[in-house]
Amino acid sequence: MIFASAPGPLEPQTLAGLEQVLGPGRLLAGPEAEPFLTDHRQLYHGRGLVARPHTAGELARLLAFCNEHRIGVVPQGGNTGYCGGATPDESGTQLVVSLARLSRIRQVDPLNYSLVAEAGCILADAQRAAEEAERFFPLSLGSQGSCQIGGNLSTNAGGVHVLRYGMMRDLVLGLEVALADGRLLSSLTSLRKDNTGYDVKSLFLGAEGTLGIITAASLKLFPKIRCSATAFAAVPDPRAAVQLLARLREASGDRVSSFELVPRLAIELTTRHIPGVRDPLEAPHSWYVLCELTSSRAADPLDSMLTECLGEALQGGLVRDAALAASERERAAFWKLRETIPEAQRLDGASLKHDISVPVAAIPEFIERAGAWLRENAPDGRLIAYGHVGDGNLHLNLNQAPGADRAAFLARSEPIKRAIHDLVRDFDGSFSAEHGIGRLKVGELEHYAQPVELALMRAIKRVFDPRGILNPGKVLRRDAQ
Ligand SMILES: Cc1cc2nc3c(=O)[nH]c(=O)nc-3n(C[C@H](O)[C@H](O)[C@H](O)COP(=O)(O)OP(=O)(O)OC[C@H]3O[C@@H](n4cnc5c(N)ncnc54)[C@H](O)[C@@H]3O)c2cc1C
Repeated sequence: MIFASAPGPLEPQTLAGLEQVLGPGRLLAGPEAEPFLTDHRQLYHGRGLVARPHTAGELARLLAFCNEHRIGVVPQGGNTGYCGGATPDESGTQLVVSLARLSRIRQVDPLNYSLVAEAGCILADAQRAAEEAERFFPLSLGSQGSCQIGGNLSTNAGGVHVLRYGMMRDLVLGLEVALADGRLLSSLTSLRKDNTGYDVKSLFLGAEGTLGIITAASLKLFPKIRCSATAFAAVPDPRAAVQLLARLREASGDRVSSFELVPRLAIELTTRHIPGVRDPLEAPHSWYVLCELTSSRAADPLDSMLTECLGEALQGGLVRDAALAASERERAAFWKLRETIPEAQRLDGASLKHDISVPVAAIPEFIERAGAWLRENAPDGRLIAYGHVGDGNLHLNLNQAPGADRAAFLARSEPIKRAIHDLVRDFDGSFSAEHGIGRLKVGELEHYAQPVELALMRAIKRVFDPRGILNPGKVLRRDAQ
């Protein structure tokens, strides 16, 4: 029985109450709970029970009970987040609430270009449902086979189509949310225009489960993509990459949907560690971009637009070489290289990660200055600055150099992080562009946010969650809430 193996100081009556609220089989403990207690990057390992409600009503009743008994609740989607936001603390008193059983697509409305999905719906399933209705849901991440819509909303996820379609926040029409006290806020509207007072729903987006638990969302759809052109191009440096992006946007009638920067080292690591990944070009180059044009018009001449623009760039010195995907297989191979960079880094050894953003035009200078500082101060690390350059978002990661001492390398993570984030501040940038705060970056938020901003965040938290039961210690420090 669950009670016998309960891990923490929750009273037996409380546990019995929880099981009564949820019904049999919906509370996991011991080995069954284990997979839910460690975050994706294995930075945190917590303790606690796991609840798996099947409906929004069940979840709301659970929250009312937890609020009454002051039980900390940690919402969990696909558990692919990078900041430890979905992992309980080590006390054993918190309850993980897995959304996995709330996974239905409730409605697809092609004429309204909208879809209603429950929070536990896997992102790839939502994309598929849109596709079956001849529509397109644009959020696209390397983790889309396991991350969930609720997690995407709560982290305000980005991914590879932000340039054209915006972040998750921009794709939302309405939400259904279970509040801390058990009330259900039902605002699953599919309206494009609604200026009726404060936009309450927007507060839950990017809130990482600290203000409410999202149970469903009404999302925007777009015309189905029927034509695409994809190139992997070598560029002399990031400056050329940014200029190429500006030209390509103009030349294609703004049909650029992805524009990703890839450094040479990323090619070396992916081809070494990931089976099936090959260098798309014959000779090595220092920098590359993976760019894609897409259109809903099957007959759009995207291949010739891309070829022409790259040809001109080649003549003008902005591009050194390029390969165009001649088939869906080649396109998938280019994307596999890009999407497996994090995995290749992990397989290569320790790495220090920074998910930063600066204005797009400032990317080249930022890379130059960060690179110079790191060469001087962290010679046992190798810089891999890659990612969504079209959005000004870089994953500025440092990988342990071959033969470097792992412990010594990792021991310097704090001063390195401080230097990188200080530089980001000098560029009016963000120290967390798309991965959120979670538990990992609480100190960074305190350090870099304006005091007035932090005070407002704490005041909002008190209004939505006066007893502090929702994801305690995430985003805001617990004693400061
Ligand atoms: C290979 C890989 C590639 C990735 N690429 C990208 C990328 O390109 N762009 C990007 O932005 N991220 C990326 N990520 C990070 C991650 O996938 C995203 O942050 C994703 O949105 C998290 O969704 P999830 O369902 O896994 O959420 P989880 O990790 O389960 O949770 C994330 C946060 O949201 C909260 N939460 C979850 N569900 C709910 C809910 N229903 N209501 C309220 N709060 C909730 C949790 O408490 C936690 O604080 C990547 C991750 C991996 C592993």
